[in-house]
Amino acid sequence: MSNPFDNAMAQLEKALQIKSINTNLAQKLHYPDRDIRIHIPISMDDGSTRIFEGYRVQYDNTLGPYKGGIRYHQDADINEVKALAFWMTIKCAIAGIPMGGGKGGIKVNPKDLSEKEIERLSRGWVQKLSDVIGPHKDVPAPDVNTTPLIMSYMVDEYEKITGDTSGAVITGKPIDKGGSEGRGPATGLGGFYVFETLRGKIGLPEKCKVVVQGFGNVGFNGAKIFAQHGHSIIAVSDSKGGVYNENGLDLEKLADHKKNTGSLADFEGSKNISNEELLALPCDVLAPSAFENVITKENVHSIQAKVILELANGPVTPEADDILFSKNIAVIPDVLANSGGVTVSFFEWDQNLKNEHWTEKDVFDKLQEYMQSASLAVWQKKEEYNTSLRVGAFLLALERIGEKMKVLK
Ligand code: NAD
Repeated sequence: MSNPFDNAMAQLEKALQIKSINTNLAQKLHYPDRDIRIHIPISMDDGSTRIFEGYRVQYDNTLGPYKGGIRYHQDADINEVKALAFWMTIKCAIAGIPMGGGKGGIKVNPKDLSEKEIERLSRGWVQKLSDVIGPHKDVPAPDVNTTPLIMSYMVDEYEKITGDTSGAVITGKPIDKGGSEGRGPATGLGGFYVFETLRGKIGLPEKCKVVVQGFGNVGFNGAKIFAQHGHSIIAVSDSKGGVYNENGLDLEKLADHKKNTGSLADFEGSKNISNEELLALPCDVLAPSAFENVITKENVHSIQAKVILELANGPVTPEADDILFSKNIAVIPDVLANSGGVTVSFFEWDQNLKNEHWTEKDVFDKLQEYMQSASLAVWQKKEEYNTSLRVGAFLLALERIGEKMKVLK
């Protein structure tokens, strides 16, 4: 599997080939400010002790405190976290929020742990990192396999260690622990607002056939929101495989089915398919919403979608990206498409610092404004340089970070 950090740097190089920028910034963005690896000893329920490897990468804070989620996954490693932290740097700049890029993780399959063990592990991560995170230093959030409950353990631990009661050190908290209205569906909803802003420009119809890989926070909420707005979700999948119905799936019933049976398979009226088959389905929009490196030079020729909406981070490798561009298949890049999550995380941080609580409507209205403005700015860069949306997005981010660096000099 290709190294996500190499992929991220290849994307940066491609943008730098189109337009050269301040060499200090270009050089700086090849390295994180800090990459931290920690070891967390946890008392397991059976009385034994296990050591877990964890990470925090603080990539760049030119625009504001480092910001980025924490991933619990057995395959998490420093290269993946570095790539994700770099993409956060670019993403926050595109979204127009005053935050830098960071990311964290723990190498663990949370399904192997009890709830109490997960709590001890999450508190352990904060104990090791409490001196480098903070509302004005570095503000973590949820990512793959981390939940509002896990964020509440973390914010509680941080408060115990430091006495900070603002809650602004972590976003994605439960509402009663200072979380924002609307943070749950924010990434999927943001993706929808981005899509609707660009849909006509890309030449897609008002009602599209949509395929979604991933049925977690981003995939499920994204699919639901697209369906609520009249698009037809014809296939979805999770790690075990997917289901397909060319007339559209009833997502609420499918979610109940998964809850009852533990899997998407054998859902009434639909056909079971593998993840590879799902990626190759004919559709208007393919929204990879699970992991990186799913569309590669090996399978890209089977893609029949008209547009790829990257709700996951890094799902299309640079080689596949070039091939899609040459075939006129537009890719709405992750750094724009999934920036709704960090945007509402920024709203949560802002509310915590001001001791305010905004209504869901306020949050969604503001999110729509930010997403529309980011999408139009990316589109304008793409047109200006006659390039892909991803390169346009990178050029916009580099320009914004470069401007702030000049001010800081
Ligand atoms: P999640 O843990 O809630 O869901 C992940 C989903 O992916 C699950 O349904 C899982 O079954 C599925 N999955 C795992 N392996 C798979 C495979 N090999 N094939 C198909 N499906 C598979 O995670 P999430 O928060 O929804 O994050 C998904 C992606 O979106 C990640 O790339 C993440 O970095 C990105 N993202 C998340 C947020 C957020 O707010 N949660 C924000 C921006 C970007």
